[in-house]
Amino acid sequence: MKIIKNGRLISSEKMRKADIAIHNNKISEISENISPKDEDEVYDASGCFVFPGFIDGHTHFDMDTGTAHTADDFVSGTKAAVIGGTTTIVDFATQEKGQSLKEAYDIWMKKAKDKSSCNYRFHMAITDWNDRVKEEISKMPELGVTSFKMYMAYDNLISNDAEILACLQKIKEIDGVLGVHCENGTLINELTKEKIAAGETSPSAHPASRPDYVEAEAINRLAYISTLAGHPVNIVHLSSFAGLNEIRNARKRNQTITVETCPQYLLLDDHYYDLNHFEGAKYVISPPLRKVEDNKALIQAIVDREIDTIATDHCSFNFKKDKELGKEDFRKIPNGAPGVEHRPQLIYTYLVEEGYIDVMRMCELMATNPAKRYGMYPDKGILEVGSDADIVIFSPDYEGVITWSKQIQNVDYTPYEGFKIKGQAKTVFVNGECVVQDGTIVKENQGTYVLGPR
Ligand SMILES: [Zn+2]
Repeated sequence: MKIIKNGRLISSEKMRKADIAIHNNKISEISENISPKDEDEVYDASGCFVFPGFIDGHTHFDMDTGTAHTADDFVSGTKAAVIGGTTTIVDFATQEKGQSLKEAYDIWMKKAKDKSSCNYRFHMAITDWNDRVKEEISKMPELGVTSFKMYMAYDNLISNDAEILACLQKIKEIDGVLGVHCENGTLINELTKEKIAAGETSPSAHPASRPDYVEAEAINRLAYISTLAGHPVNIVHLSSFAGLNEIRNARKRNQTITVETCPQYLLLDDHYYDLNHFEGAKYVISPPLRKVEDNKALIQAIVDREIDTIATDHCSFNFKKDKELGKEDFRKIPNGAPGVEHRPQLIYTYLVEEGYIDVMRMCELMATNPAKRYGMYPDKGILEVGSDADIVIFSPDYEGVITWSKQIQNVDYTPYEGFKIKGQAKTVFVNGECVVQDGTIVKENQGTYVLGPR
């Protein structure tokens, strides 16, 4: 057995001093004082928080855009996850036009299987809605897929309102989750044409072509589609105050709606697009970075429990070669940025240490709620007897600075370069195996596919 002693155990509701015993891949005992036997391995968590392993409900590993390929695959992406204390990621298996959902699932499973250092599960991104796909949805839970995604933007991914409605009605039958990328793609295309016609080709034209009301409009429209279907939706990567207001309006109408945001929409703002030497391309993501006021509004929304989960939308492209594809034309810059490695440290440093939230709320946003929303609770997202032994011993004392040269993410920059951080995942367990010790990976490839709740 492995025994974690002297830690402060965190759940979404409380913090308490207790020891944890791990037998095989499960938590076998939690009590105030567990006495180790000679053969037991003991891990000291004095002065540390002990969290259920963090879950990142939004990553894109090993993904191709047609012109660029993500810098991180499941090997490097899940190593980066685990060193930060993220023990499960939910990646987007993405259907290509003409493909069945099962084909897309098989392709993504092949990308991840036997290569992952943290656990993994998939949302199914639907890009080609048709009767065959509709029938397939009922079979997806058997494969462990209970959450789906549609896009309201990007010409190659977009679904129209009728398709979203039909999909949501079908998902309602299996009590699944539909996450939606909320930006009005038609308006973005028009605004983009205007920018190009005006000779604006630099990264700063990117946010200008996708203003906050483009997100707000899509959220509002989706909320009404959700009303029509009689089934809740999940707003992924909320970026703006304007979008938040539409969620508030929907909730005033008594709608259930869940909301995800990401550290970049809390800690980074649109001044980065004006950096010299094309550096702004590093921040070309969609939705784009907003104003400082938006950052503040979203942090307050986290405090006020209007936001349910914090993920990363990790989608890394190298600055050299990949981002540089758009040097003369911002439309050609692949959209996305890395983040999976640093989310727990960033949230701990800038939300917990700054006094906005406590560690229980951090646990709820980054472990408990994603586990519940994406069909993994109570195997994951909570420390209790019988749960999976995915555990993070988090030291609040560590101090450091984020820099790309030290990161595990296989990409040539980080949008958080130079950010001071406090706290570190000191020891991490995945499926009962100790995979990180003293902030260093000691065992790779321990991740398994998360089929579903017990
Ligand atoms: Zn995404």
